[in-house]
Amino acid sequence: METTLRGVGVSHGVAIGEVRHMGTAVLEPPAKQIAADEAEREQGRARQAVEAVAADLTARGNLAGGEAQAVLEAQALMAQDPELIADVDRRIAVGSTAERAVYDAFAAYRDLLANAGEYLAGRVADLDDVRNRIVARLLGVPMPGVPDSDEPYVLVARDLAPADTALLDPALVLGFVTEEGGPTSHSAILARALGVPAVVALPGAGELAEGTVVAVDGSSGEVFVNPSAEKKALLAAAAAERRAVLAGSTGPGATSDGHRVPLLANIGGPADVAAAVEAGAEGVGLFRTEFLFLDDDKKAPSQEKQVEAYRQVLEAFPEGRVVVRVLDAGADKPLGFLTPADEPNPALGVRGLRTLLDHPEVLRTQLTALAKAAEGLPVHLEVMAPMVADRADAKAFADACRAAGLRAKFGAMVEIPSAALRARSVLQEVEFLSLGTNDLAQYTFAADRQVGAVSRLQDPWQPALLDLVAMAAGAAGAEGKSCGVCGEAASDPLLACVLTGLGVTSLSMGAASLPYVRATLAKYTLAQCERAAAAARAADSAEEARQAAQAVLSGE
Ligand code: PEP
Ligand code: MG
Repeated sequence: METTLRGVGVSHGVAIGEVRHMGTAVLEPPAKQIAADEAEREQGRARQAVEAVAADLTARGNLAGGEAQAVLEAQALMAQDPELIADVDRRIAVGSTAERAVYDAFAAYRDLLANAGEYLAGRVADLDDVRNRIVARLLGVPMPGVPDSDEPYVLVARDLAPADTALLDPALVLGFVTEEGGPTSHSAILARALGVPAVVALPGAGELAEGTVVAVDGSSGEVFVNPSAEKKALLAAAAAERRAVLAGSTGPGATSDGHRVPLLANIGGPADVAAAVEAGAEGVGLFRTEFLFLDDDKKAPSQEKQVEAYRQVLEAFPEGRVVVRVLDAGADKPLGFLTPADEPNPALGVRGLRTLLDHPEVLRTQLTALAKAAEGLPVHLEVMAPMVADRADAKAFADACRAAGLRAKFGAMVEIPSAALRARSVLQEVEFLSLGTNDLAQYTFAADRQVGAVSRLQDPWQPALLDLVAMAAGAAGAEGKSCGVCGEAASDPLLACVLTGLGVTSLSMGAASLPYVRATLAKYTLAQCERAAAAARAADSAEEARQAAQAVLSGE
């Protein structure tokens, strides 16, 4: 029977497919005792699970070929290590369940590896993966991490961390549904980057049975469980109609009376460039460089590796504008070698620019790599710092850019309310502002962007957030400088018109949202956008602000 669940739609479009759950990363089986006569059966179960996991890893290796095959085969050998298996048998003989024995035997082996020199210590993650796979099989729960599937699926997760995202195969993920996360969470951002429909903050998502067919409407936030044939046809027809409207939207971003608002793309690296160019992005408004740093938890990527990645992006936009954000580590994007492990409240701790000022060598390498990457290219390079709190932060960043010999515009992200309140003071040190409305909402409303339960406060239509946007944009206008928006607020077509009316000078978003924003902005004059902005700011809640802007723009 068809049922409907409601969450927050964060990435447009409709996806219909079977549910596959993201497995829990760490499975610790309970330490319960078994009777002596159960030991033989448990030893048999353990061996079967080990063999099945080894066979599966080998089969995947054969499919993948190349370097991946070598890694997967090494993992298959780890699973079958005779000493490990003997240890599992011994633990079961003295009363462990199969799953607990595997868990403990691997933990002992893990400690040995971790202390056995750099090379072997580097294999610990592979060993953990093998252990998790065997334990998951014994417990009869989904394999940890990204689902093993050759068929396209709808990914259901509690939430998605940036590190998970590196492993996703965009060809297989039809859409996302997450239980946690708000409109600005990384799941939402990733979904937009991949251009797949997504719904977040969906209560009960975790209980959807594996293999259930769902239809995800990323615009309305509805998830239809076991949709009827009529519902599927209706959704498909609506999606086709929307695509047709969008196909007619091309050219630079502007209101109907020609007020230019450059539409830029948010990217995570060279892999996102093609989609940005295809969507007609006029440049990049936010290059989130931290994705380059996720491969290695122990050190920063080399200068050469960074130059190569930056150059690929800069070359894709000759004469265009590319705004690169320096590393934003910490809080929801921790990096092992930089982020303090014991912060009581990481979102309020050492993150973003604060981390870089504590590790000037990391900032220096990144800025030098950017200077080298831009050498000889006609691109308009702009570099900005995340989490700027005040003028002193802005000055420290601008000084570091100058010291690295960077020929670019230096800017500050406005993500902390203090930077919006004192924007004119910050602008004495830098040449542009970029509003990171995701964090700005988080810090304005004291509402963690990862927590679904407070997604109401993460709504970028909140009038208090619009007030801060107006303050920053007004200050930039008074200083004759630019102020863009690169947070997720820019990807909501109606809100994009309101932001334009508030004086924002460019909008940057995931490539998939660009055509929607372009088509909507082109329908209204600047004066209409300004009236909509004033109406939204006069409201008392996000919902009222949205309705008030809608009413102005539709001439009600
Ligand atoms: C923001 O906070 O709005 C932003 C653009 O940065 P991120 O989402 O990467 O924290
Ligand atoms: Mg941010």
